[in-house]
Amino acid sequence: MRSVTILGATGSVGTSTLDLVEREPTRFRVEALTAHSDVDGLAAAAKRTRAAVAVIGDATRLGALKAALAGSGVEAAAGPEAIVDAARRGADWTMAAIVGLAGLEPVMAALSCGKAVALANKESLVSAGAIMIRAAEDAGARLLPVDSEHNAVFQCYEPAPGRVSRIILTASGGPFRTWTHDQMRGVTPAQAVKHPNWSMGAKISVDSATMMNKGLELIEAHHLFPVGADKLEVLVHPQSVVHSMVEYVDGSVLAQLGDADMRIPIAHALAWPDRMTTPCARLDLARIGQLDFEAPDEMRFPALALARAALAAGGARPAVLNAANETAVAAFLAGQIGFLDIAATVEEVLAQYEPDAPLTLAEVVAIDAEARHKAVSVMRRIAA
Ligand code: NAD
Ligand code: MG
Repeated sequence: MRSVTILGATGSVGTSTLDLVEREPTRFRVEALTAHSDVDGLAAAAKRTRAAVAVIGDATRLGALKAALAGSGVEAAAGPEAIVDAARRGADWTMAAIVGLAGLEPVMAALSCGKAVALANKESLVSAGAIMIRAAEDAGARLLPVDSEHNAVFQCYEPAPGRVSRIILTASGGPFRTWTHDQMRGVTPAQAVKHPNWSMGAKISVDSATMMNKGLELIEAHHLFPVGADKLEVLVHPQSVVHSMVEYVDGSVLAQLGDADMRIPIAHALAWPDRMTTPCARLDLARIGQLDFEAPDEMRFPALALARAALAAGGARPAVLNAANETAVAAFLAGQIGFLDIAATVEEVLAQYEPDAPLTLAEVVAIDAEARHKAVSVMRRIAA
């Protein structure tokens, strides 16, 4: 029996993980579930799975959580520290599915236990990559990539030095793949969160629309598969059937394919190194008929170029990029800035702020806070 903790259990990745865990009750036992503010969703999942503990991040909702769990035997806790404590309970397998840098301390706590940590929370790896990878190595923890591209690479990757010549991350291109720059000016939040192939949380859906998501994924790949930034490429593939590819020095290219359902990469990480069955649709290539590929357009999608430059420069740049982007995406979703202002804000913050490379978690958090602060003033000027 594998004990499982899900950080961010009420989100898109969290509920997909729960769906798989609940299908095999003799194989998985739930230790802890956490959420930010959705008491009802959290309590219902905790009761169904007989979790040992349920934690709500918003401390003002502890009373509501206790009431919802009364008589169930599930322990209730609240606040960001309690989420970190839940991650530190040392489940055999932890899903890190909190969105944004808010997930950093919990994922570091889970890694410190030296068990398997399935990583969906790419923002933490982008901002604190070197620190996180070192922490995983020191604790003997196993990072299992859940992002569909990175899980695809993981399944195709032979880590021996000198064998890999390229890692090709595929990108759907998002809902505005064929739009002109002018057309994108008027994009609304409702349009931006409507992804053509994947059903995901709001933040990553906006990132897919700006293609910042693929930029973050380049940085994520750099930490998970250290072949060198010059060997990482992006290829637009609108059907989202080929999830990524690894090219070897002999010219062989290995790819992982499948239906665009996050339960496939999550199941791979959940059962790893074994496999498990899923209810996901089987790939019907005869019905699909044709797969298309094209080079990304960094003129219309400048976020991709910003992320690539941040990766090349290294140091604190990825953390600044991520913080500015998280802040700008939240402002866009709140109707405060336009769609094109997201990348413009990130670019401006990167131009203003060049801190030293963070060596500790506290330094990452400080860089992140300062970059968010700068992003807010940049956006105030843009909106004025
Ligand atoms: P989501 O918004 O649907 O869910 C986020 C979860 O995190 C929720 O459970 C929420 O309660 C929790 N959360 C949010 N803010 C929090 C905070 N401040 N403190 C504690 N918990 C908090 O997001 P999602 O789409 O499931 O994405 C989760 C992560 O996985 C992101 O980093 C995203 O980039 C990554 N990811 C998602 C997908 C996908 O298909 N959705 C695919 C690849 C990677
Ligand atoms: Mg992805």
